[in-house]
Amino acid sequence: MNEFELIEQITHGIPTQSGGLIFGIGDDCAMIEGRNGKDMLVTTDSLYEGVHFKREWITPRALGRKSLSVNVSDIAAMGGKPLYYLVSIGIPKGFPENDVKELFDGMAQIAATFKMILIGGDTCASKSGLLITVTAIGEIDSGKALLRRGACPDDLVYVTGTLGGAALGLAALEKGMRSLEMREYLKRHDDPTARVTTGAWLAASTCVTSMIDISDGLAQDLSHIADASGVGINIFADLIPLNDGFATDASACHKDPLILALTGGEDYELAFTVPKEKAKLFEKMLSVVAPTFGHKVTKIGEVVTGSGVRVKDIHGTELPVSSKGFEHRF
Ligand code: ADP
Ligand code: MG
Repeated sequence: MNEFELIEQITHGIPTQSGGLIFGIGDDCAMIEGRNGKDMLVTTDSLYEGVHFKREWITPRALGRKSLSVNVSDIAAMGGKPLYYLVSIGIPKGFPENDVKELFDGMAQIAATFKMILIGGDTCASKSGLLITVTAIGEIDSGKALLRRGACPDDLVYVTGTLGGAALGLAALEKGMRSLEMREYLKRHDDPTARVTTGAWLAASTCVTSMIDISDGLAQDLSHIADASGVGINIFADLIPLNDGFATDASACHKDPLILALTGGEDYELAFTVPKEKAKLFEKMLSVVAPTFGHKVTKIGEVVTGSGVRVKDIHGTELPVSSKGFEHRF
């Protein structure tokens, strides 16, 4: 069973409505009615030793940064502003005290960039490695959040940044490759950037119909938009944005660049949809602000009637993609 089937099973039949809850399970964050014209966004994500990281691969400070960034990314995926975080930590026997401090300093560095405040957590001993669970809370103007469920046929699909870099970084770690060429990808893997400014701008643009962050691979995460919106999505392989020299760097690691970009996890870029009739206006507005974002935004596909995600080559022929992305299996 994969994680999505398990979530479906455990959440089936439990109450999903209560006063003040706008929605719970099924998007990047849960959303609760706030005050003063704001909605509150709540999300939680864990990083477990042996599952998400090996201690010899990442410094405690970088691990701290990543633990908060991956949570903030889910707030960015709704267009929200991050405000608070809580940290639950399971510490294995013999784990150096100074490393715990480094971990929290790493989180504090990311928190400082967004003016987030640590408001609680839990501290336990762990018998199975280092366990970190972060909960992040944010806010957004009422009714402005971008959901997975808003995509419509004829919308265009865009992504921020470049894809596959974090997965190539992971491959380099697994192969023990630490060359200069791999350094950029190792950084992508260890220290992702949550696209908060971009997400907030996209939510305010009134041109975007749905959005998600890419944590498990482009194809997998777009399939969540497709499922939630009741539509199909076509991605054009030749339009997918890659780092300069990515194909060469991927083959040095014996990896297929397109498979990395389509199915590699942990890029934490945003994927979103814009109605075709608004695309011209959207791209014009974007060209004014994009230089301040520090990353590009690329059109990669279209929303169609139907279901699922298809990847097409330059001739429109469907490419077989054996896996859609990363999933936990039980
Ligand atoms: P993301 O990749 O954005 O963090 P996930 O794919 O992990 O989102 O989760 C999808 C949805 O399922 C989210 O709304 C999340 O809160 C919910 N979810 C995941 N695991 C559980 C669980 N154990 N109990 C309840 N809800 C869960
Ligand atoms: Mg997400």
